[in-house]
Amino acid sequence: MVEQRIPPTPSNFAIWFHYFAGNHDDLRNAIDLLIDHNRPFDDRTNRDLFKTYIAPKVNAAVTADTSERLHDVMGAAKEFLTTAIADNRSQMQVISEVADQGKAGVDPKALVAQLINELARAATRATRLEAGFAEKTRELDVIRDSLSRSEERARTDTLTGLANRRALDEFLRKAQATAAWGEPLSVLMLDIDHFKAFNDNFGHGVGDQVLRLMAKVLREKVRAQDLPARYGGEELIAVLPDADLATCADLAERIRHALAECTITRRSTGEVLPSISVSIGVAQYRAGEAVADLIERCDRALYLAKSSGRNRVMTETELDRAGAAG
Ligand code: GH3
Ligand code: MG
Ligand code: MG
Repeated sequence: MVEQRIPPTPSNFAIWFHYFAGNHDDLRNAIDLLIDHNRPFDDRTNRDLFKTYIAPKVNAAVTADTSERLHDVMGAAKEFLTTAIADNRSQMQVISEVADQGKAGVDPKALVAQLINELARAATRATRLEAGFAEKTRELDVIRDSLSRSEERARTDTLTGLANRRALDEFLRKAQATAAWGEPLSVLMLDIDHFKAFNDNFGHGVGDQVLRLMAKVLREKVRAQDLPARYGGEELIAVLPDADLATCADLAERIRHALAECTITRRSTGEVLPSISVSIGVAQYRAGEAVADLIERCDRALYLAKSSGRNRVMTETELDRAGAAG
């Protein structure tokens, strides 16, 4: 910040804290671009950086407590910097005075003693400052962990542990940008068959247990680069970057089989309950379309799977055929 002549205000500290914490790729890219192009970090740029990259995150994820602690650390860091700068100035002053005395022919031994004395005092002050900085760095580590945890919570569905809608939307937006370069992108959406009746027969708690099981299977079946998420009540979704319709349909079929083979037991009694089936819709992104259109097509394929008898996978290709036939 000193290098870029950035005033040590709380909001500027927040920007550069996230920059160095390395937990905010978009902010990092934006700042690196500014540095690469030798753009000044003037008041307006600093304000824009805060407004664009920090404020939304702060509002969403930072608890009042974390925010307060961050503010305290920023205040302390500002004080340290101010002290360090003032110390440097006074040391420079003393050293230049000693140099002037040297020119004036003062006893060199006395000058050396004075310099040694001054440097020892500077070293003590620097050590104190360093210890203070180390302590604040440890506090920042704690704050960073707590921030990461609350960000993670804000993006996770509590029942299933899958990504929630917010995380899904973000992932889709990024995946769409990659798909714009010509890579395929597909989604599958699954909905449990006759789940209402299952809940009615065996209770909502057992229903929740089933939903968690579905989420677990989905998580296990998708590839590392895919995002499994909870789309709605008992509707789950998986976004598959770099997968075409056939690859996605193939995975959907494997998921359907795996779920059908799951044995569901009532925890309290050990009673084995009827197996559960799912219907799945599959669609592939078309260049230039809105993400909402992709989801809507996937949803229609899912609806077709339901109306064709459930417990099956339908892709948008069948949707076209059904449309042509209808
Ligand atoms: P189908 O999908 O085969 O047409 O029939 P369905 O009975 O599953 O119909 P629908 O998908 O419309 O039903 C949604 C039901 O899912 C309603 C509700 O009982 C159940 N459900 C939704 N969210 C939850 C949840 O979080 N926990 C439990 N236990 N049930 C849920
Ligand atoms: Mg449903
Ligand atoms: Mg259903």
